Amino acid sequence: MVSILVRQPGVLDVAADRQPIPAPGEVLVRVQRAGICGSDMHILHGSNPFAVYPRVIGHEFAGLLAAVGPGVQGLRVGDRVVVDPVVSCGHCYPCRAGRPNVCARLEVFGVHRDGGFRDFVAVPAANVVPVPDGMEFAVAALAEPFSIAANVLDRTGCGPEDTVLVYGAGTVGVTVLQVARLLGARCLVADIDAARLERARGFGADRTIDPRSQPVAAAVAGETDGLGPTVVIDGAGVPALLDEACRIVSPAGRIGLLGFSPAPSPLSQQEVVRKEITLVGSRLNRRLLPRVVGWLAEGRLRPEAMITQVFPAADARDAFELIERAPQTTLKVQLDFA
Ligand code: MN
Ligand code: ZN
Repeated sequence: MVSILVRQPGVLDVAADRQPIPAPGEVLVRVQRAGICGSDMHILHGSNPFAVYPRVIGHEFAGLLAAVGPGVQGLRVGDRVVVDPVVSCGHCYPCRAGRPNVCARLEVFGVHRDGGFRDFVAVPAANVVPVPDGMEFAVAALAEPFSIAANVLDRTGCGPEDTVLVYGAGTVGVTVLQVARLLGARCLVADIDAARLERARGFGADRTIDPRSQPVAAAVAGETDGLGPTVVIDGAGVPALLDEACRIVSPAGRIGLLGFSPAPSPLSQQEVVRKEITLVGSRLNRRLLPRVVGWLAEGRLRPEAMITQVFPAADARDAFELIERAPQTTLKVQLDFA
């Protein structure tokens, strides 16, 4: 049994692990497949402000129930599940307002508490989402990254009337693109890398924009009768893009932010007021994994195409090294614990 542990910033270890015993209200998951996220890289680099070390990382994981703790109902050993990594208190103001992803006592697997890059992990039964028998664990483990897209598009009220502009054609950008298309919206993608734009077209982008050859404002104006996109999502996490987003978004438009940079963003308050722009932050997901699992089960997303590499868990160091060395070749790298 192994766990993938960040002992301290910069030090990644494949460590021997013990099988936990599920407490009352918990279940034990035998992890089969887990995805590496940009936020795991931040914890490794010491740039995640919430991480405490040493930490078993990983928040995108799926597997089989190996044991059910006392008092747990409706779940059985052998069930195939994916885990929602958001653990919330259920009592604070955001929890009572239906926003457990910003709970005052939020704990995220792999960040605030030990995560899913291990053979066995105990999780609250409330965090387990069943997946259909026919769904590969590789696909189930993508429910969490797709839930990031589902959450920001839910927060911005995206629907068939919308033209969405996504900044960034990395992992976040292509999940936002796929979910926006699924919701019936048109989707434009801007990125400064030709290969990533090509990939975005493969995932169904209605139009791709390279800001080095054409200003984004001019490109999107031509696509939206001059009004601008009704929804702009920053999937690149670049603070300076917010001002441009405010300038190009349609009146009554919405801007969704996913980046976690502490740097301030300049923006024109005049634009925000003149057009009644709605600016929303989006963190993790608000109990959306069941919805995403449904979409995956219906074949309405393209999860397999997201997975660019799979490494045995014991070779986790190689996986992280590849992401460091050649990020342009990786979209979602998974670890196989089966
Ligand atoms: Mn993630
Ligand atoms: Zn709470």
